[in-house]
Amino acid sequence: PHVARLIAAGEVVSRPLDVVRELLDNALDASATRIEVDIEGGGLTLIRVRDNGAGIPAESVALAPARHATSKLAPDASSVERVTTLGFRGEALWAAAQAGTLQLVTRPASQVGAAEVRAQGETVEVSRTSAPAGTTVTVRGLFASLPARLRTQAPPATEVREITTLVGRYVLHWPELHWRLTVDGESRLTHAPADHRGAVASVYGPLSANRVLAVDAGGVRGVVSRPELTRARRDRMHFSVNGRPVLAPPELEKAVLDGFAELLPAGTAPLCVLNLTVAPEDHNPNVHPAKQVVALADLGTVAAQVRAAVAAALAAHPL
Ligand code: ADP
Ligand code: MG
Repeated sequence: PHVARLIAAGEVVSRPLDVVRELLDNALDASATRIEVDIEGGGLTLIRVRDNGAGIPAESVALAPARHATSKLAPDASSVERVTTLGFRGEALWAAAQAGTLQLVTRPASQVGAAEVRAQGETVEVSRTSAPAGTTVTVRGLFASLPARLRTQAPPATEVREITTLVGRYVLHWPELHWRLTVDGESRLTHAPADHRGAVASVYGPLSANRVLAVDAGGVRGVVSRPELTRARRDRMHFSVNGRPVLAPPELEKAVLDGFAELLPAGTAPLCVLNLTVAPEDHNPNVHPAKQVVALADLGTVAAQVRAAVAAALAAHPL
């Protein structure tokens, strides 16, 4: 029934930040090289993510907002044990259409015309239009029909700050793409394809970028700051697992600190961006709805690799 549907959707999308993350994941899964995000009213008025990725073929576009409609898993159960895409549950577009109104304009490069889908609740309307190759998803009026949910939302300025941080994390982990974030029509973040150091420049400024060292050992790639660029807080430690930005498990944060050994001033933490690559079967993203919590089969081994990679980067650049 209606209420059960809204409750389920609310577990996938409880705030604008969740929508932004899901739409970014979809753009990355579609192999986009350019991703643009627009936010209005703290994301409650409008969230729009435009990408130049693969698009959705005309024959399956009407299904995209349906619950559990995913093009990313093979129908056998074992494929959920070896997830290689960021999305796999087929719930994000569906939940966005329950919590607000969803508009999707999409065109695969090989197709002449584009399709437009408008979805709200269980109503889905498809029409033809024209558009550049790729997909633009717009979610308007999030929680407008859910007053209780609306009342518990953070103030727009808080949500904007968190969305900006989130997009920054994606830029840091996917520096080879074009990125842009605008908030209420004003540019907040732009990034042109670069390496990890360039992404640090886009997100934290050139001064920080000048003080990072490349890390590249085994399955650990990225940058770590020189010992002099450390802070009391750990808010500049960023990890991704197979391309998914995740909340760093304390074990991995500690592994980075251990990699510095005595070089790190006591009580401080470095800036780091570390992309970890693990075998899909050694990593389970399916432990939490937001897929932000990593479950690594062998956290100890990964932590040892992180510590060694950081130590090697520092050793390669003696003070
Ligand atoms: P999931 O990502 O778990 O598959 P979603 O609800 O996020 O589920 O998306 C449903 C389907 O819509 C995806 O499986 C994909 O086929 C298609 N889709 C969504 N967003 C995009 C996009 N930006 N580009 C191409 N296809 C997309
Ligand atoms: Mg998705």
